Amino acid sequence: MASSSSDSQLQPRPADLLVDLRSDTVTAPTAAMRDAMNAAPVGDDVFGEDESINALQDRCAALTGHEAALFCPSGTMTNQIAIQVHTRPGDEVICDRLSHIYNYEGGGIARNSGASVRLLHGDRGRYRLEDMVANVNPADSHYARTSLVAVEDTCNKGGGAVWDVQELERLSAECRKRGLGFHLDGARVWNAWVQRGEWGHPERLRAYGQLFDSMSLCLSKGLGCPVGSVLVGSKEFIAEAHRSRKVLGGGMRQAGVLAAAGLHALDHHVARLEQDHRHASLLGEVLEAHPNIAGVDPVETNIVIFTLPRDNSADVVQAFAQMGIACFAFGPDKIRLVTHLDMTPETIHEACTRIQRWRA
Ligand SMILES: *Cc1c(COP(=O)(O)O)cnc(C)c1O
Repeated sequence: MASSSSDSQLQPRPADLLVDLRSDTVTAPTAAMRDAMNAAPVGDDVFGEDESINALQDRCAALTGHEAALFCPSGTMTNQIAIQVHTRPGDEVICDRLSHIYNYEGGGIARNSGASVRLLHGDRGRYRLEDMVANVNPADSHYARTSLVAVEDTCNKGGGAVWDVQELERLSAECRKRGLGFHLDGARVWNAWVQRGEWGHPERLRAYGQLFDSMSLCLSKGLGCPVGSVLVGSKEFIAEAHRSRKVLGGGMRQAGVLAAAGLHALDHHVARLEQDHRHASLLGEVLEAHPNIAGVDPVETNIVIFTLPRDNSADVVQAFAQMGIACFAFGPDKIRLVTHLDMTPETIHEACTRIQRWRA
C-alpha cells in the first residue's frame, strides 16, 4: 500500500538483523521466479503479441469466471481504470471509508474520473447491504448519479479483514437489480481465498468472481512479484479498459517477463499464504500479551494492526527500528505489521522474541 512519508525512516542496519514487516511488497523475486522470467516468451503487447501476457490474462479471466483481463503496472491503475470505465464525470462511487481507492490513490477518483465518493462506516472495511442501499442517491437531478459500488477483500486498513461471501452475494444482487457497477479491489483477494478455504476449488473461485463486474488482482503484494496487477471483466469492459490504460500511459511492450513472474506466482505462491497468516497470528498473540500495547485488531490474514495506549506511534516505530523490526505507523496510535514470502518461521520467531523483550 501507499504509505505516508513521515511514518518510518529506517536506521540502516545489517540486513541479517532487520526483520522487515513494513509491507508484503518488500519481497524480492525468488530464484525460481527469476528463472521463469528469464525463460518467458515475449512480444509487443501493444500489438497484443506478448504470449506471456496473453497467458496471464487468459488465466486470470478463467480463474475468476470472467471473459477477459488486462495486465497493468499497478493496482492503483487497475482500480482507477475500473472506476473510469464504470462512471461518468459527476457520478458517485460508494465505498468504505477505509478503502484504498479513497485513501491511497492520490485522490484519483476525482482526478481521473471526475466522480465524487460516498463513504460508508463498515466493520474494518466491511459494510452492510442496508448501509449501501441507504446511500444510493435517488434518481433526481439534484443528486450525483450513484453508478459504482466498490469493496476491498481483504481490507488493508481494516487489518486484512476478510469479507463474508454471503454479504457480498447480497450486495452483488442489489447492485445488479439497481444497475450499479460492482467492483472488487482484490489486491489481497488471494489471502481471502486462502483464509476462506476457496483456493484449490475452481468452482468456488468462479462463483466468487461472478459476483463482480470487475476485479483488480495484485501480483506484487502477497504473491511476491516485482510488479503487476490484472483487471478482469467482460470483453466489452476490458475493451474500454484498454482505452483508459492507454490514456493513463500504462501500455507496455515486452512485459511478458513481468507476466511470467505472475504465472509463476499463481502456481507457487498462493497456497503458501497460509504460512503468512500463521506468522501474523503468532505476532498478534505476542502483541496481545504485551504490557505496552492497548489492543490488537483480530488477525485474519497477513496483516496485524495494534493500538498503543498513547498517540506516539512514530516513537514506537522508531523503537522497533532500533530492535531491528521495520514497521509502519497506521495512525497516531496504531501500527501495522505485515507478514510475507521473505519471512521464515525463524525470522518471525526472532521478531516475536524482540517484541517480548521490548519495554517502553
Ligand atoms: C497495494 C494496494 C493497491 C494497489 O497498489 P499499487 O501499489 O498501486 O499496486 C490497491 N488496493 C489495496 C487494498 C492495496 O493494498
